[in-house]
Amino acid sequence: MKNIKMKKRIILFTLAFNCVFAHAKTIIHAGSVIPANSLEVLSNSSVVIENNKIVEIRTGFMSPEKGDEVVSLKNATLLPGLMDMHVHITSEQSPQSYTKRFTNNEADYALQGVVYAKRTLMAGFTTVRNLGDGHNETVALRNAINRGHITGPRIYTAAKSLATTGGHADPTNGRSFDLMGDPGPREGVINGIAEARKAVRQRYKDGADLIKITATGGVLSLAKSGQNPQFMMDELEAIVQTATDYGMKVAVHAHGKKGMERAIKAGVSSIEHGTYMDDETMRLMKHHNTYYVPTIAAGKWVEEKAKIDGFFPPIVRPKAAKIGPIIQNTFKKAYKAGVNIAFGTDSGVSAHGDNGNEFSYMVEAGMKPIDAIRSATFHGAALLGVEETLGTIEAGKLADLVAVKGNPLKDIDNMKQVIFVMKDGVIYKHPSHL
Ligand SMILES: [Zn+2]
Repeated sequence: MKNIKMKKRIILFTLAFNCVFAHAKTIIHAGSVIPANSLEVLSNSSVVIENNKIVEIRTGFMSPEKGDEVVSLKNATLLPGLMDMHVHITSEQSPQSYTKRFTNNEADYALQGVVYAKRTLMAGFTTVRNLGDGHNETVALRNAINRGHITGPRIYTAAKSLATTGGHADPTNGRSFDLMGDPGPREGVINGIAEARKAVRQRYKDGADLIKITATGGVLSLAKSGQNPQFMMDELEAIVQTATDYGMKVAVHAHGKKGMERAIKAGVSSIEHGTYMDDETMRLMKHHNTYYVPTIAAGKWVEEKAKIDGFFPPIVRPKAAKIGPIIQNTFKKAYKAGVNIAFGTDSGVSAHGDNGNEFSYMVEAGMKPIDAIRSATFHGAALLGVEETLGTIEAGKLADLVAVKGNPLKDIDNMKQVIFVMKDGVIYKHPSHL
């Protein structure tokens, strides 16, 4: 008898508890809302969040029920959580980067990633795609964030990038012969079809979400060419086919036209940087539905640092000076040509937390502010293949929401004034705490 009474009490308590807490909503009163599923802008609206989902968008400022939390953003614009499709969240480039490889351990990269992840989230970027790390540390970082142990964005990681011997992501480029060794598929260096397949399968085993390859030379590696093709067609096809078998997309670093076009024909998902693409390349991208992730911020950053004596090693400096200034103009042409564009900064070259600068560079090059915003929301989600759950403000989607001061469609620099950040229904930045 006593036991039954106890049980009844527990059930009643549980019911009461649920009534108070499970149904409590967060109601955001926003002066403007850019849902990003179209070109539409809503004014004076309420966005209602229950648990980790958006449940309703209603015109006017809705009154709360008992227990509801109201966030007042009446002088701000509410947007879907921003998405950066190209970051390296566990490092930041400096003149010491090249020697740090010999002194830093894997844990050092992982721990600095904790700091950069928080900075990125606080700048309004609730989702990032990490395109290359040194030791798979971003897999651990992603998992720690997902477990709630540390604060950061949703990470989709490629873990260690794939290159060919001496290619842009060969980790032993520029080393003395006795330290060079002969890295293979496990370390992300492949030659031929069998190694290409093995390297992709190794990434799957390591816990990567996608594959990143370096189809041409690059600026910051200790190698002469910044643009030569570095994979053969059969290697590219082997990578894409294997990745597809494991449900992974392929992101491609590329500056030169030839390597880029081979990769597009092989069926990759995105071209990063894309510096020397021309009209023919753009047509090919449109035909294959390949996304372009411009990373203008990285171009500007290397251009500026190339002017400083001693900042870059001698083999890197001329590449930085030549390639850096071209990217923004390439972006301008690709936008005019109607290539699909997803927002990406290559942060980790420039500083984490400054990701929002890319919006200003895009608009400076002629992009409409609404298109720049959609490239960092709707199109980011489409490129990742998570458009069902993220990328727009719609009922049923996950509650990743940010707000910026004023109207970013009038002044795109407002995208750097993020005053509110919610990820998965949890508030990380609140205007009243600023
Ligand atoms: Zn990169």
